[in-house]
Amino acid sequence: MSDSFDVVIIGGGPGGYNCAIRAGQLGLRVACIEMRGTLGGTCLNVGCIPSKALLHASELYEAANTEFAKLGIKTSGVEVDLPVMLAQKDDAVDGLTKGVEFLFKKNGVEYIKGKGRIASAGQVEVELAEGGSQTLSTKHIVIATGSEVTPLPGVEIDEKRVVSSTGALSLEKIPGKLVLIGAGVIGLELGSVWRRLGAEVTVVEYLDRILPGMDSELAKTAQRTLKKQGMEFKLGTKVTGIDSSDPDLLKVAIEPAAGGDAETIEADTVLVCIGRRPYTEGLGLENVGVQPDQRGVIANNHFQTSAENVWVVGDCTHGPMLAHKAEDEGVACAERIAGKAGHVNYGVIPGVVYTAPEIASVGLTEDELKESGRKYKKGKFPFQANSRARTNHTTDGFVKILADAETDEILGAHMIGANVGEMIAEVCIAMEFRAASEDLARTCHPHPTLTEAVRQAAMGVEGWTMQA
Ligand code: FAD
Ligand code: NAD
Repeated sequence: MSDSFDVVIIGGGPGGYNCAIRAGQLGLRVACIEMRGTLGGTCLNVGCIPSKALLHASELYEAANTEFAKLGIKTSGVEVDLPVMLAQKDDAVDGLTKGVEFLFKKNGVEYIKGKGRIASAGQVEVELAEGGSQTLSTKHIVIATGSEVTPLPGVEIDEKRVVSSTGALSLEKIPGKLVLIGAGVIGLELGSVWRRLGAEVTVVEYLDRILPGMDSELAKTAQRTLKKQGMEFKLGTKVTGIDSSDPDLLKVAIEPAAGGDAETIEADTVLVCIGRRPYTEGLGLENVGVQPDQRGVIANNHFQTSAENVWVVGDCTHGPMLAHKAEDEGVACAERIAGKAGHVNYGVIPGVVYTAPEIASVGLTEDELKESGRKYKKGKFPFQANSRARTNHTTDGFVKILADAETDEILGAHMIGANVGEMIAEVCIAMEFRAASEDLARTCHPHPTLTEAVRQAAMGVEGWTMQA
């Protein structure tokens, strides 16, 4: 194995592995260092993929109990086999992480198992997983070390009773009572999984709304729908401590965020999901003079850090902590290193919450438009009026399209409903081409599909929605 490279990437998550594959495609000599033992990062190992495997399985289980009868399908003896459900999740993870290893081989990427540390400009030291160390010399270093769970001061995560998302993906039994701290994406997704499997779920959120940052009309509808499904919300509330002295019961102390009477709620399991923070521990940033900000974020200018030939992508730099954002940055970064014009359009990064119904957003929210004073027009269409949604009994939700009042350029789209996580991509493409809402409204959509709701919402921008 050679110790000399054009690019050494530290971290094998969506940012790092996509950067490595693209660099390999572009003919660069590239190595990717990963300390986890498997490739794919948070996303494949303990994030996107295992959570979606459990969301899919638990959604089918709930449908078998609550929806099948309406469709004329009689069921009996439907039961959860948790070990099998967890094993199929692990199988999905295993197959996909090995898939990345295959892609590395195919594209000539050297996969180095161990912990990387920047020793100096152009030198990375690896503490090898198999023991010993190795020093790599390289023209470029890419930092793709991702993120870790943000801890809650005073609350100790043991990954058994008080868990992070990682523990919540592998609970040994279905909790009777589950308390979630944080009504963000992880809380709503993993809370949905365990509620569907039988847990009573209470969500404690510091702010007076769920899903901060998403369009507030969308968030309100989402909260109403999740509440109807049985999730209880305690908004504007903070957790002040957890008493775990009773081996059978956790006592979670809460009080209004604005101050007021304290209360105790009981739980078998508490999931702490108040966000993630960049992970750069032991990375040797000081050896190249890179200083993260107070939150640990490494700044970048077109993926270049303040140090020459040291680059950064993914969760440990600015922007939404999303796998596809990390991926796009990884690709663009490799292209810039190869002297090409790599670019990421941060205005068109979709966000999806994989609850049922799904929640999906791209571009500016209506709140942001109101705040900025920019004049906009809005088209909104309910799934209640969409023929496919009615046929499928999935009528909850709506599509909202926002467009510039003068030019009609699409500025944002916000949807809640079945399959909107897939449907949002149509608006992303339109926005990449800087399409007008009329372009969507006049594009022939197949019938009967849920996507017709997008077209009808786009028609609504000019006030000619036809089916509602
Ligand atoms: P990571 O995926 O965190 O990868 C970084 C890698 O670097 C890690 O494997 C780490 O072991 C390694 N590393 C760190 N330091 C070193 C070192 N010094 N040497 C060697 N290796 C090192 N995003 C979505 O878009 N969609 C989703 O549905 C979604 N679901 C999620 C569900 C959960 C429960 C969680 C926790 C996250 C989810 N995310 C989702 C977010 C997504 O996982 C991250 O945004 C994404 O993984 C970031 O990619 P990354 O490459 O920047 O970092
Ligand atoms: P988040 O930022 O989505 O939500 C955290 C929530 O916790 C917020 O509502 C916040 O107001 C609340 N909060 C913060 N401090 C609190 C406190 N002390 N008490 C009560 N509430 C508090 O974070 P997350 O849900 O932990 O997810 C982490 C990251 O992972 C996110 O950036 C997200 O993008 C990513 N992720 C994405 C997906 C997806 O794309 N489907 C799924 C899971 C995770």
